Amino acid sequence: MTLPLRPDFIGEEPYGAPQLDVPIVLNTNENPYAPHDVVVNEIAARVGEAAKGLNRYPDRELMALRQGLADYLALESNVDVPATQLWAANGSNEIMLQILQAFSGPDRVVMTFTPSYSMYSEYARNVYAKFVAIPRATDFRINIDAVPATFAQHRPSVVLIASPNNPTGTALDQADLRAVLEASVGAGPEVNGQVTDSIVVVDEAYGEFRRDGVPSSLELLAEYPNLVVSRMMSKAFGAAGLRLGYMAASQTIIDMVRIVRLPYHLSAISQAAALAALEHRDSLMEQVGAIRADRDALAQTLRGMGLEVAASDANFIMFGTFENRHAVWQKLLDQGILIREVGPEGWLRVSIGTPHENEAFIAGLKEAMT
Ligand SMILES: *Cc1c(COP(=O)(O)O)cnc(C)c1O
Repeated sequence: MTLPLRPDFIGEEPYGAPQLDVPIVLNTNENPYAPHDVVVNEIAARVGEAAKGLNRYPDRELMALRQGLADYLALESNVDVPATQLWAANGSNEIMLQILQAFSGPDRVVMTFTPSYSMYSEYARNVYAKFVAIPRATDFRINIDAVPATFAQHRPSVVLIASPNNPTGTALDQADLRAVLEASVGAGPEVNGQVTDSIVVVDEAYGEFRRDGVPSSLELLAEYPNLVVSRMMSKAFGAAGLRLGYMAASQTIIDMVRIVRLPYHLSAISQAAALAALEHRDSLMEQVGAIRADRDALAQTLRGMGLEVAASDANFIMFGTFENRHAVWQKLLDQGILIREVGPEGWLRVSIGTPHENEAFIAGLKEAMT
């Protein structure tokens, strides 16, 4: 029997970092601190409540959760976003897919600046869009001067920018984001004979780890109806297992995404657990400040070892360069330390762990480099 495989899927492997059972896991940028018992019990209680109504479909408009997210963003970023301009899904991965389903497709271009999150090309592939990757400068920032010409050439319907960027850790300056947003005006594809503006998605997966004084892109939301800011609870929030991502955007964008979302995509269990987690954000995010300080200290240590370190606003560090990075990665793994072999040739990425894990990593790396 011959199945009608999509030609572009033949030989493809599913995306994913290795999930290995080793003592020190520093490869997927999770928050290394598990929730406290009080929070665990509260989540369990709220999920128990939700279970009583499991014979019914959940609120498909997620209004309580969207309000909880609005309250959180007002505190975290000092920006008031109405709950109706927020939307949530199963991880920011699903948010991104929904955005591309709503605004991209076979005759459209999705653009990003690489190196960046490697799922972007896969989202584009899955909706049959053309994916265009523009190389970043040597310091991994976006070459802003070249953006207008690049947009004019490719006419992207959606531009994806991770800030802080994964795997490099690079934050996008607000001035640079403004320049991108200005360039996006009139840069989109024609729709019914009309020129459009590209949608600009800032993926702030690591937003909460940004250094002091680095503003969130949320501050520009009211000015630019084509801006989307994506956030999630997986990394800083310490709830990767919850699978909760969300975005803030103009009403038109949210309404288009509501067209493509599957009915009841976010389970009552997820909604209840996420609301409970939001209420306990102080506890779940207690160590974000410490992780940021540990990141800066680890960067110093790596530089002291003669390594190159990319400036990071996230909870990971990209460092190098190695003649044979795979050998270094393997030697660390042999010592029970799992990091990520990702980024430009010669570089490796390590997530910030607990102080004990960070020390073990440094010791292991010294051993691997001898
Ligand atoms: C980890 C990561 C994601 C995935 O987020 P989920 O909310 O867990 O789906 C998205 N974007 C970037 C840049 C990431 O590093």
